[in-house]
Amino acid sequence: MHNVVIIGSGPAGLTAAIYAARANLSPLLIEGGQSGGQLTTTTDVENYPGFARGIMGPELMKEMRTQAERFGTEFLTGDVTAVELAQRPFTLTINAEQTLQTKTLIIATGASAIQIGLKNEARLTGHGVSTCATCDGFFFKNKELIVVGGGDSAMEEAIFLTKFASKLTVVHRRDKLRASKVLQDRAMKNEKITFLWNSTVEDILGADLVAGVRIKNLVTGKVSEVACAGVFVAIGHRPNTALFKGQVTLDAKGYIRTTEGSATSVHGVFAAGDVQDSVYRQAVTAAGSGCMAAIDAERFLETVQRTA
Ligand code: NAP
Repeated sequence: MHNVVIIGSGPAGLTAAIYAARANLSPLLIEGGQSGGQLTTTTDVENYPGFARGIMGPELMKEMRTQAERFGTEFLTGDVTAVELAQRPFTLTINAEQTLQTKTLIIATGASAIQIGLKNEARLTGHGVSTCATCDGFFFKNKELIVVGGGDSAMEEAIFLTKFASKLTVVHRRDKLRASKVLQDRAMKNEKITFLWNSTVEDILGADLVAGVRIKNLVTGKVSEVACAGVFVAIGHRPNTALFKGQVTLDAKGYIRTTEGSATSVHGVFAAGDVQDSVYRQAVTAAGSGCMAAIDAERFLETVQRTA
C-alpha cells in the first residue's frame, strides 16, 4: 500500500514527488511513455526562474527527475489504464494487468496537443504532419513549412523551425496573434516567416508525404493551395482526463476542477499542473501546483491518521 501515488512526470508530477519524498512519504511516480511531459518537446526555456541564461526543456526535466530520485521517489514506467476512486484506498491498474493501492493520489497527467481534425492530417501524421517542432524539425532542412496557430506555441515552433526551413508560413484564423508580445516581435522580425491572416487549413495534400495545404481565406472565401513539405499544428492543448471522467468533477472544457488548493471532488485525490489549469499553463505554475498537491496530500494523511 502506497502513501502517495503520482501520475505524470512533467514539472507538476516531479515537483509533487520532490516534496512528498522530502516529507518521508516514499511516493511512487508513474511515468508514461513521454517521460518529462511537454517540456521534453521544447527547446530553450527562458522563463523558468533561476536559469538566467535559459535551459533546454529536456535538461530541466532531467534535473527535476534526478532531484526527485535523490530524495527517494520510486519510479514506475507504464500507462495507468484504469482507476477506482469510489473508495479508499484507491486502486490503479497499470498496463491493464498490474494493480496497486494508494491512500492518496496526485493527478498530474498534463495536456496533449489538439489536432485540426482533418482526415488527411491523421493519415499524414509522421509523414510531414507534426505537433512537435523539436522532435521533427530536423527532417525539414531547406524545405518550405506551414505552422498553424497564433499562440505562443505556434510562434515558438515557427521561430525554431526557421533553423531548418527555407521558408515558413504561419496560417492563423484571425488577423491578430494571441502570442505574447516578445514572441510576436521575434516572429515578425524573422525574415523567413510570413503570415497568412484570417485563414484556415482546409485540407492537407500529398500521397505518402505532405506536398501542400489547401487554405481558405475566411474573409474573401477564396481557396488556394500552398506547396510545403511539412505542416506543424500548434493550436493548443486538451487535458488528459479521459481516465478520470465520471470519477472526479471536470469543468466544461474537461479540466479537473480543484477547490481549496489542489483538492478535487474526491477526498484524498489531488490534481496539479496543466490537467487542472486552462489559464496559466506554465512550467513554473505547474511546478508550484505540484508542490501544493504534495503538501495537501501530506496534510490529508495526517488528518486521516489523527482521526482513525
Ligand atoms: P493557445 O494560447 O490556446 O493558442 C492556440 C492558438 O491556436 C490560438 O491562436 C487559436 O486561435 C488557434 N486555434 C485554436 N483552435 C484552432 C483551430 N481549430 N484551427 C485553427 N486555429 C486554432 O495555445 P498555445 O499556443 O499552445 O499556448 C498554451 C499556453 O502555453 C498559453 O498559456 C501560452 O502562453 C503557454 N506557452 C508559453 C510559452 C512561452 O512562454 N515560451 C510557449 C508555449 C506555450 P485564436 O487566437 O483565434 O483563438
